[in-house]
This record gives sequence, structure tokens and C-alpha cells, in this order.
Amino acid sequence: NFDVKFEGNDYREIGQLTDTLNYAAEELGKSEGFRRELIANVSHDLRTPLTMIRAYSEVMRDLPDENTPENVQVIIDEADRLTNLVNDMLDISKLEAGVLEINLSVFNLTEKIRCVLERYNKLRENEGYEIVFESDQLVYVEADEYKIYQVLYNFVNNAINYTGDDKKVIVRQKVNPGYVRIEVRDSGVGIEQDQLPYVWNRYYKVDKTHKRAVMGTGLGLSIVKNILDLHSAKYGVESEVGKGSTFWFELLTTQPPKEEK
Ligand code: ADP
Repeated sequence: NFDVKFEGNDYREIGQLTDTLNYAAEELGKSEGFRRELIANVSHDLRTPLTMIRAYSEVMRDLPDENTPENVQVIIDEADRLTNLVNDMLDISKLEAGVLEINLSVFNLTEKIRCVLERYNKLRENEGYEIVFESDQLVYVEADEYKIYQVLYNFVNNAINYTGDDKKVIVRQKVNPGYVRIEVRDSGVGIEQDQLPYVWNRYYKVDKTHKRAVMGTGLGLSIVKNILDLHSAKYGVESEVGKGSTFWFELLTTQPPKEEK
């Protein structure tokens, strides 16, 4: 999307063209650097789960005693990790290519959140996690339903991964005149104040040594940022080390579609 307008041949326009070409070269340099960085990260991130899947399958083939539900679970978890990783990569490359578009429709946000959380609770309940949803009315928004689902999923998934020993996550819907605010709060490790602005950056991981953080790709929140920017939505994070974090976003509310009134 380089905007080259070179109609006449006066010097001012040549100056502008030079600026544009410099800008283009800089942008190309960035994406070339990005590509290299992406390949390095992807190959590392893909290799780890693949190695695990292969190793566990081999052991289970050769040692029947090792054929336990726990070991099968490792394979399932690693396969899930691969799926998440591939999905994140696809989103990122679409974003890079500028083809991630939003498909707006009017939908019941409250109902959507309830659905997502119910599904997530089922998935993680045997691990002792609990997600509580606090909402006092139904609200409709005009947004990209699937992408808002991704935002919620990322916030909730992070909250679960980084929450404290109470294993509790609170999702709160606050309705205001004209807009709704969704907060996802955990009681976990928290994030240092000076690190907060960077969590939205691609590949950013606050603490690379944190056991559970190693699971992540550092891509989730950068995708969330892009999605919310595409919606011109407000979003942010508040956090206190040792106490927990609250990730939030806001969307304008709208009337329900006529047939649902
Ligand atoms: P990841 O896949 O590593 O979770 P994200 O982009 O989703 O990548 O998050 C970037 C980083 O922000 C994480 O690695 C983690 O360090 C930090 N982070 C995100 N959510 C939370 C949270 N709820 N509590 C503490 N740290 C968080």
C-alpha cells in the first residue's frame, strides 16, 4: 500500500517520490526481517511438540506398560499446541498481507461469551479450573463474531494459564450507555508495570523461564490487538505483580436484529 503519485515532473514531486521509495525500502526491510524472525521462531516452536509426540508414541509402542492415559494426554496436549500454533501463524501471515478483514454482523455478545465459557469450562474442569461469568443483562454488538470469539478465547486462555492457585478466572460484563466493557480477571502472577505496554507485541513473553509461559507462542495478544484495532475498539490491561491481571476491551452496543426483539 505504497501511495506513489507521480503525475507531473516538478522537483517537489521527485522529492516526494524519493521519500516514498525510501519508505517502501524501509517497509520491505522490516518484512524481510520479520520473515526471517518468523521462520526461526516457527521452526523452533513446531519442532518441540513434534519431538514430544514422536518420543511418546515410540515409547508407548515399545513398552506396553507406558501405554497410560497420562501419556496419551501428553500427545493430545502437544497436538493441540501444534493446532494453536498453526492457527496463530495463519492469522499472523494474513495480518502481514493485510487481508485480515472483518465481517460485521449483529449478535448477542452476552450469549456468545456464555457459550465460549461453557465450552472452555468443560474442557478444563477436570483440571480444577473455574471460570465465572458475571453479567446482568443481554447486550448486542455489531462486530466480527468469530474474531471477537478469538479475543475472548485468548484472554481466557491466558488467564487460565497464568492464574494463581485458586484456579479461578472471572469474566465480567459491564454495560454502560452506548457501550459494553468485558473484563477477564485472574489472580495470578501479574505483570510488571514497565512490561505492560509490550505484552501486545508479537512474540513477547514476559518471563521466558516461567514454566507455563513456555507453552505460549507470544502471538496471541498481538493477534488480539490487531483484531481490536480493526474494530476501532478500546482495550487494555491492568495488573499487579503477585495479585493478578485484568485484560479488557470495549465495544459499542447496538439494538437486537428485528426478528429477535
Ligand atoms: P503467549 O502465547 O506467550 O501466552 P500472548 O501474546 O498471549 O502469548 O501473551 C504474551 C505474554 O504476556 C505472555 O507470554 C505472558 O508473559 C504475558 N501474559 C499474557 N496474559 C497474561 C496474564 N493473564 N497474566 C500474566 N501474564 C500474562
